[in-house]
Amino acid sequence: MTEPFKKSTDSLYIIDRWQKEAPGLTAGFTSKEGGTGLFNGLNMAFHVNDDPDAVQKNRRIIGEQAGIPADQWIGCEQTHGIHIEHVSKKDRGRGALDYDSALSSTDGLFTDDTGVLLTLCYADCVPLYFYDSEVKRVGAAHAGWKGSVEGIGPAMIKKWKEAGSQLEDIQIVIGPSICGDCYKVGKMVVDKAAEWFEKNEMKPFFPVSNEPDTFYFSLQTFNRDLFIKAGIPEENIQMTRLCTSCSSDFFSHRRDEGHTGRMMSYIGWKEWDHESH
Ligand SMILES: [Zn+2]
Repeated sequence: MTEPFKKSTDSLYIIDRWQKEAPGLTAGFTSKEGGTGLFNGLNMAFHVNDDPDAVQKNRRIIGEQAGIPADQWIGCEQTHGIHIEHVSKKDRGRGALDYDSALSSTDGLFTDDTGVLLTLCYADCVPLYFYDSEVKRVGAAHAGWKGSVEGIGPAMIKKWKEAGSQLEDIQIVIGPSICGDCYKVGKMVVDKAAEWFEKNEMKPFFPVSNEPDTFYFSLQTFNRDLFIKAGIPEENIQMTRLCTSCSSDFFSHRRDEGHTGRMMSYIGWKEWDHESH
């Protein structure tokens, strides 16, 4: 499988194929390189006690690189739940340059509007990207283990079907996050995941670690399995090989033992420029 992400600047990995396929689409994931603030890097989140001015500055840098200015972003107070909001231009600016105005208790966003950038923050959890070429719809979801086992990915698919998307038109990218070789979890997590596998008559595989009652778990492949079960054609799903814990290009909650910044996933349609088409 080819890697869906390509490093475009020090601070940015973009979903190259989608951007080539769909003029106006901008989608990517930030690295920790090139910013300022408490974590000596490009921290994108307001909720981790960083200097808000530094975070705003970091966000404006990415706004320029992504092609949608930071005041047109939408951000969330993420709670590892599966609540998804269908947003539009009127929500622009919420959670963009402060935390108080962010959409509360929301871990997934989608929109049919241009000139809006959907953003979510991460430090090991899985960024999910959604794109429907037919109805020009884009979406993003934050899937940690809890959101994954509760099925935020399939929850997005359900909402898109209700909003008129056809399963075969939905493209998915599973983004940079902690890999299956780095992610050790306790029995509670694998039990929850095993429940899902059992319900779907699939055989789970959780390699055992050398610590008691501890297992390795690939959140990326788990999310891919969820999408396949939800009816997304396998060839529509791309999965990254970038691991936030293996690579020093990223902040990692696990590797940095909790004290760390956040990367940001983003996706949106740039304002349509009539002059150039
Ligand atoms: Zn790793």
